Amino acid sequence: MISDNIKKHKENCGQEVKLVAVSKTKPEEDLIEAYNVGQRDFGENKVQDLTRKYENLPKDINWHFIGHLQTNKTKYIAPFVHLIHAVDSLKLLKAINKEALKNNRVINVLLQIYIATETTKFGLSPQEVTEILAGSEIKALKNIKIAGLMGMATNSNNQDIVRNEFRTLKTLFESVKTEFFINDESFMHLSMGMSHDYKLAIEEGSNMVRIGSSIFGARDYPNKH
Ligand SMILES: *Cc1c(COP(=O)(O)O)cnc(C)c1O
Repeated sequence: MISDNIKKHKENCGQEVKLVAVSKTKPEEDLIEAYNVGQRDFGENKVQDLTRKYENLPKDINWHFIGHLQTNKTKYIAPFVHLIHAVDSLKLLKAINKEALKNNRVINVLLQIYIATETTKFGLSPQEVTEILAGSEIKALKNIKIAGLMGMATNSNNQDIVRNEFRTLKTLFESVKTEFFINDESFMHLSMGMSHDYKLAIEEGSNMVRIGSSIFGARDYPNKH
């Protein structure tokens, strides 16, 4: 039952960790069931699905875009998106800023950091993050807010590998906060942890988890991001 799964995961997250229910590929009835037990944060990874669900579902939902966003599709989600999790280039930051400005909004984004040993995962290296944040161009982007970091660990049963990757990201989060956001409380989210590794992620300092299959059941295309 989706409603029971929401309750169970909310309990496991406690007060400090935000639960994002990853509803990608799932029908709207499934989201309603989660909504009806109080879930308000949902994650989608396709622009078209996100806009459709936004239009059809209650307006007090916080919509998280967790996929790889193409610059030319930013305009479709800019009017309403709550948080964009996986931003991994200055080019995309500029595109989001431009669309946010058009909508007279400030859009919250997370920078995706490459922490996995797998080569398939997107993301910035620690050096690239520093370059972007220390650079001059970022300061002109008044309609985005860098609200934290996001990462995905290696898909592995080896807990030591996964734990180490989460620990590395937490360390980077703290150092970026100290270096660039020292008096800025809006740099606050550390989005790490999915169905199979979220407990480890929370132990290592995550305060936002993105959980799909263990709430809504397996997807037809389990490895599609
Ligand atoms: C699909 C997805 C999730 C959720 O994955 P589950 O294993 O189903 O919990 C989390 N984060 C991202 C970026 C995803 O694409």
